[in-house]
Amino acid sequence: MVSRVIPVEPFDLIVFGGTGDLARRKILPALFRRYCAGQMGGSSRVIGAARSDLDEAGYRAFVSDAIAEFDPDATQNRDHLSAFLERVSYVILDARGDAGWDKLAALVQKDRVRAYYFSVGPGLFGDLAQRLHTYGMSDADSRIVVEKPFGRDLASARDLNRVLAQHFEERQIYRIDHYLGKETVQNLMAVRFGNMLFEPLWNSQYVDHIQITVAESVGVGGRGEYYDRAGAMRDMMQNHLMQLLCLIAMEPPAKFDPDAVRDEKLKVIRALDPVEPDCVVRGQYQADDGAPGYRDEVEAPDSTTESFVAIRAHISNWRWAGTPFYLRTGKRLKARASEIAVVFKDAPHSIFGVQAGRHRNILTIRLQPNEGIELGVTIKEPGPGGMRLIDVPLDMTFAEALGPDSADFPDAYERLIMDVIRGNQTLFMRGDEVEEAWSWTDPIIEGWEERGEAPIPYASGSAGPDDALMLMHRDGRRWREIRA
Ligand code: NAD
Repeated sequence: MVSRVIPVEPFDLIVFGGTGDLARRKILPALFRRYCAGQMGGSSRVIGAARSDLDEAGYRAFVSDAIAEFDPDATQNRDHLSAFLERVSYVILDARGDAGWDKLAALVQKDRVRAYYFSVGPGLFGDLAQRLHTYGMSDADSRIVVEKPFGRDLASARDLNRVLAQHFEERQIYRIDHYLGKETVQNLMAVRFGNMLFEPLWNSQYVDHIQITVAESVGVGGRGEYYDRAGAMRDMMQNHLMQLLCLIAMEPPAKFDPDAVRDEKLKVIRALDPVEPDCVVRGQYQADDGAPGYRDEVEAPDSTTESFVAIRAHISNWRWAGTPFYLRTGKRLKARASEIAVVFKDAPHSIFGVQAGRHRNILTIRLQPNEGIELGVTIKEPGPGGMRLIDVPLDMTFAEALGPDSADFPDAYERLIMDVIRGNQTLFMRGDEVEEAWSWTDPIIEGWEERGEAPIPYASGSAGPDDALMLMHRDGRRWREIRA
């Protein structure tokens, strides 16, 4: 099964911060893959814009190296690569001054969709938006894409929204959360709302609890300076995990359109109870044989920033009252594994007696690795010897169910960039959603600060601090194994 490619109109994509790490690792390789898939048709172009002192040939070499490093398979087609590079140009530009802006304004074409990707720190968002306006580059056909972090609290997120709103309407602003671009996350919506099977059971009467885990095996690496100012709560929980929670918990939107979906997500965030101090655990990883601890890695011996956070959350509405949502994310954990598990309640009565044991249906949505969806069902263990029950997975791993080519679906950045070009905001966060998410996480962070609470140390390669395990144990539940 080969995925269908829907053509898009010719566009100009301008990458501010085009020589940065994100551009190199994600944006440029994603654009090349879309080019190879035939989606950068006509005269579409990519324009890098940054401070780095490069000429066009130098930038093309930079792009070629980035693709070779982060998508080595794609570069096998040398013809494609050189044709793609011909569409790439570069402008040296200062976001805070006037240098380079006239040249950029002369280069972009006004008669087509223009997407301005702000792949720079949020401190430059206002400068870029204002200069796009001053130099006549913003009109109805232009869009801006902004990266996380979108603020570091409610007040700064509001400021950013206000600054962007001075020159762009909400329908032109694409706040990216690449988790929403993952194939499985969208499939979660297809499974929920495209089948009769799940939705009647999707509530507190039938669902015991829901777990969301985003575990990384690596430490903070080269992002230490940024990370130490953010921590797991701001870097992961406030955006990625809360977005996943919204998609799992929201009411069915009337239509799969941007505002219908985002209205429902917003209602979920508004229905979240404030989190009591005993329902949140924060941790920090320790040195391990050979691997530095968090404080060594960020070179801050007294840092109290968390590299792990776990929360028991409650949604106070008719659907979910009484069903806890357990969320956890952290670095230097056992494995790189992200999943959502919907754990259904026990059958009300077992006709097979106690010896049959306790069995539960679990719907697992795996985000990485091996994206796919699995439903655990209980069956009889084959063979003689009475009624012994076992749990087996009904596995919907895409590669197995749909054929090997199905694993070749576009990655999150490819899909989201193409959605920007098409003008589809469904998988992007609206300004009010982001603000509401900060209003939920701000009091948790402020509570830590007021109480002077330090994170609990945890061993590298573990499942996080024991207190996080206790968060579920004391409710008579347990986390699923973190497994790659
Ligand atoms: P980076 O420091 O590697 O690159 C910054 C880019 O901005 C460079 O191209 C630099 O030339 C340009 N720049 C800086 N100041 C400028 C100015 N005054 N005028 C013009 N250009 C200027 O940063 P990055 O890691 O690529 O991150 C970019 C943004 O994306 C940040 O907001 C970051 O938080 C976010 N982000 C990054 C990652 C990642 O994996 N790197 C992941 C998610 C979000």
